[in-house]
Amino acid sequence: MTSDLLTDTAAGLAARMAAREVSAREVVDAHLDRIEATDGDGTSDTDVHAFLTVVADTARRHADDVDQRRVTGRDLGPLAGVPLALKDLFTMRGAPTTVGSRILEGWVPPYDATVTEKLRAADVIVLGKTNMDEFAMGSSTENSAYGPTRNPWDLGRVPGGSSGGSAAAVAALQAPLSLGTDTGGSIRQPAALCGLVGSKPTYGAVSRYGMVAFASSLDQAGPFARSVTDAALLQSVIQGHDPRDSTSIDPVRVGRDLPDLLADLDAGVEGLTIGVVTELQGEGYEPGVLAAFEDSLRRFEALGATVVEASIPHASYGLPAYYLVAPSEASSNLARFDGVRYGLRVDAPTAEEMNAATRGAGFGPEVRRRIMIGTHALSSGYYDAFYNQASRVRRLIANDFATAFEQVDVLVSPTSPSVAFPLGDKTDDPLAMYLNDVATVPASLAGVPAVSVPNGRGAEGLPTGLQVMGPLLGDDRCFRVARALEADLGLDPVPSGANAVAPA
Ligand code: GLN
Repeated sequence: MTSDLLTDTAAGLAARMAAREVSAREVVDAHLDRIEATDGDGTSDTDVHAFLTVVADTARRHADDVDQRRVTGRDLGPLAGVPLALKDLFTMRGAPTTVGSRILEGWVPPYDATVTEKLRAADVIVLGKTNMDEFAMGSSTENSAYGPTRNPWDLGRVPGGSSGGSAAAVAALQAPLSLGTDTGGSIRQPAALCGLVGSKPTYGAVSRYGMVAFASSLDQAGPFARSVTDAALLQSVIQGHDPRDSTSIDPVRVGRDLPDLLADLDAGVEGLTIGVVTELQGEGYEPGVLAAFEDSLRRFEALGATVVEASIPHASYGLPAYYLVAPSEASSNLARFDGVRYGLRVDAPTAEEMNAATRGAGFGPEVRRRIMIGTHALSSGYYDAFYNQASRVRRLIANDFATAFEQVDVLVSPTSPSVAFPLGDKTDDPLAMYLNDVATVPASLAGVPAVSVPNGRGAEGLPTGLQVMGPLLGDDRCFRVARALEADLGLDPVPSGANAVAPA
């Protein structure tokens, strides 16, 4: 019974709770027990270490409350009572928010992020806050100040990042759902490496209010789940206009509603044109990743789609442009961590020395590197050559996408060039780490939606992902195409293999 609660989808659990076959309290307790059994504190090499904070009491109270309201016959939302793991970058009143950094140690935010509020309103039950690369900078979760998270498919490997804790929690059956954020790939890449569905919504579809900022013009929150339907359900809960986020899409102003992610989810791909991005495959991608991708293309054809070559001509400039734009925005956003307003303070005789000592002690090496790159790129004399030039490249890439979508309904690529790599493999080589994002940053720079869906196994029997990119506000189409592939391949979300997390 318990293991069955752990492997079920969010939609399946919600239906069983609605039919009163199982209570929210039982569902929450089963997942809290699973966390207890598998998560540890990161000191053992069998610890998944997906969570930085578990809010067991709050979660149990919320579950009891849902059960009580259910008894009175109240119509609860489609995910009521379903547990979720929240990336430690969303504020949630009463629990610490660390962003994986020492600099925010001890800070308990006095307010909820919009996303946290929406989860609460939908009676989704937050189990805790998940581990991440510090300030969401990284692709392996090894940049966390609190120790790495391990991949539930192979505990000697990384789960991807920066939302590695959120991905690992769902893959390890500690929660059926989680939320991450994606600035250049931080939902899609860990989803691919952990055998999950992960979605980066259209920029502006989900409010950034209460998300600790990394690169504000790129940051987007989105779901992880073990099925496409679950991911679409969760994204439906969190999307929507929010006047507290100045870049939130206002349907009145754009004259168009946010997409209905569920209406056509099962409509299949027959009659759709799927463009394969020439620039996002080939050299640099593992053979196993490419083989799985090509098998999926044949499946799309067999399902009635037309598969054609498509081009994002400036895609190869995506990484260099991203690694100027994102650090530039970060250098500005992270100026607020000054030892006065939040978290850590290292005392020193003068304010300036206190400020420098706090930032030196509070930020890890990758964050310091980004602040230096960004500060340099924005400095007078270099601004045009670096930041402005990168912004121009960004515009060209956005135009490339717009042009491509005149010919095709969606674009596809492998999500990540490799399967999950061993812990420590890329920690000494920042450029090798950045190359993880080669296929994901173009959609981020263009602001378009992209979903990663499991796509069969690559090397060592490890999961791979296929990325479906859609036009602005075409999130529904991305999910629909992902769903068609998932239905054809069959669900395969429970980690297996010699070094996988203990079975439920
Ligand atoms: N890996 C990329 C980076 O390090 C993307 C991170 C993200 O999307 N938050 O910047």
